[in-house]
Amino acid sequence: RLLTDVIPPNDIGVTFDDIGALENVKDTLKELVMLPLQRPELFCKGQLTKPCKGILLFGPPGTGKTMLAKAVATEAGANFINISMSSITSKWFGEGEKYVKAVFSLASKIAPSVVFVDEVDSMLGRRENPGEHEAMRKMKNEFMVNWDGLRTKDTERVLVLAATNRPFDLDEAVIRRLPRRLMVNLPDAPNRAKILKVILAKEDLSPDFDFDAIAGMTDGYSGSDLKNLCVAAAHRPIKEILEKEKKEQAAALAEGKPAPALSGSADIR
Ligand code: ATP
Repeated sequence: RLLTDVIPPNDIGVTFDDIGALENVKDTLKELVMLPLQRPELFCKGQLTKPCKGILLFGPPGTGKTMLAKAVATEAGANFINISMSSITSKWFGEGEKYVKAVFSLASKIAPSVVFVDEVDSMLGRRENPGEHEAMRKMKNEFMVNWDGLRTKDTERVLVLAATNRPFDLDEAVIRRLPRRLMVNLPDAPNRAKILKVILAKEDLSPDFDFDAIAGMTDGYSGSDLKNLCVAAAHRPIKEILEKEKKEQAAALAEGKPAPALSGSADIR
């Protein structure tokens, strides 16, 4: 059940080059995470050089937090283990505690690994939440115990990377275990242009394609919004072809001629 949540480094398919802008965050991650994962022996001499135990990526939805976590794992040659509430509710319902134990045990066995907790607020939110279910509380405690256990055994080679859009909803105990917190913010216009360049890097664009003009018109867009915009734009010519074919078919039918065949599904909207 758990193996479906594990991606080996060569299959992750995201590198830092696939992420536009966010230079500061990428640089900090390289310094904090990759080196300790790749060269643990350099960091075990004194207390101050001990690798950090967990990193929190926080910021609005769609700004690239998951991509960053995946890129870290790829570039450090680490297995990527995605743990989420949705996995618990779909595959491990009522067995959150068992799930968490299995995740940490597997992470150590296949180290180096990155344990990515997306929407960490939904999994490890404030403990004093009054309506909190007993099973949920047990699962959270199990998480903390295993996380602390890692520190003395495998910290150098297992890293917890957590992401949230709601950092203020996190439990104090969780915040303490995530001493480095990196803000992943919405991009400004120059950074939107950089993100567009990455998203469109492999597309056949006209030579006078104006990245800055589009960046200037997309205030408030996240990286994810920009990706969706590009996908919609790329579908437009397809829609136009299909609409033209439909019109030709209707015209032919109206004139009593044999209708030209449609070249594909006309259902691209
Ligand atoms: P959420 O908080 O909703 O989980 P997120 O911050 O984890 O979102 P991602 O899942 O990493 O965001 O990004 C969603 C998609 O948006 C990516 O798969 C990618 O296509 C695009 N994207 C976001 N940010 C960038 C970026 N900086 N460069 C290139 N593509 C990006």
